[in-house]
Amino acid sequence: MKKHSRVYAAVDMDAIAENFRQMRENINRDTKMIAVIKTDGYGHGAIPIARMAEQYDYIWGYAVATAEEALEIKKAGLLKPVLILGYTFEEDYARLVRHQIRPVVFKLSTAGKLSEEACRQNKVLPIHLGLDTGMSRIGFPDTAESIDIIRKITQMPGIVIEGIFTHFARADESDKTNARKQLVRYLEFTGKLEEMGIHIPVRHCSNSAGILEMREANLDAVRAGITIYGIYPSEEVSRESLPLMPAMELKSHIVYIKELEEGVPVSYGGTFVTSRRTAVATIPVGYGDGYPRSLSNRGWVLIHGKKAPILGRVCMDQFMVDVTDIPEAGELDEVTLMGRDGEEFLSVDTLAKLSGRFPYEFVCDIGKRVPRVYY
Ligand code: PLP
Repeated sequence: MKKHSRVYAAVDMDAIAENFRQMRENINRDTKMIAVIKTDGYGHGAIPIARMAEQYDYIWGYAVATAEEALEIKKAGLLKPVLILGYTFEEDYARLVRHQIRPVVFKLSTAGKLSEEACRQNKVLPIHLGLDTGMSRIGFPDTAESIDIIRKITQMPGIVIEGIFTHFARADESDKTNARKQLVRYLEFTGKLEEMGIHIPVRHCSNSAGILEMREANLDAVRAGITIYGIYPSEEVSRESLPLMPAMELKSHIVYIKELEEGVPVSYGGTFVTSRRTAVATIPVGYGDGYPRSLSNRGWVLIHGKKAPILGRVCMDQFMVDVTDIPEAGELDEVTLMGRDGEEFLSVDTLAKLSGRFPYEFVCDIGKRVPRVYY
């Protein structure tokens, strides 16, 4: 790594390993884990995380959102199954079959087309059924008609139902009434299939919040997303049962310091005007890197273990901070945009709150222009 980087996201692989270990401790012994590494591993890098997960027996496979993401995992040579949680367009069916990438199926017509493609390639494609029990997005409704369709799918050549899953809408709330209702609906539906002799080996419904607080929803597998990265799904979930380690820090360096007199505007729109003689440091990062403009005049960074408030608007590639009270700050000194500096810790939760965002969104949005450094 270069001594002075414009900006980089440092990803602590020991923290990721520890988060996997903690989750493993919290789920039933016979429950597998599906590592959710969509959106490039929530901005942390899907491939390095998958390479780590590949070694663990308790990891069933990987979940992504798109065919492109799934193909990237396959291209990297990873061997565990890859499941696409989102919609796949017909143009990609041939590639799914070729690479044995599991799609989510929630329509008879999709199953029919996948079956045809698999037969054409003389292969068998495992699929997962999506069941809607409360998200009202893709998924079979839990109705008798869906049972009938699923029965027809079981008879199609070239495809085999490997899994069935649903997704909790409100498991990250302290009141689990809604999530439990979804679980009951899911279990009733899969129970009916079972009664008809349709046994589906990989039943999964839990997300990170479920892993943390709904052991009864463990089933055959759980889908771990945000917790892999050391971030809690919401402020309502308990932090005691499972200590997570935030895996990503965002670092930069001061590129320039100037002294301004009182009454001088800073950045676009002059939304900040100095009220004293002020030492202003320029940080070479901006919303072009995914550092939100909404942190303008609100956020801060850490320099020499102290808070340096953002002055004025965050630009596309630069922003300014006040270092008047950090006299030791000099050009090319390290700046922590997220993470630890000495006694101070600037968390993704704080940054998300300050910028009016959601922690998931904050890390997913860290741009391609920001190199990821693994240690
Ligand atoms: N399963 C599905 C279907 C999802 O859409 C997601 C995330 O959006 C997850 C699992 C992982 O959720 P979390 O990151 O809260 O664990």
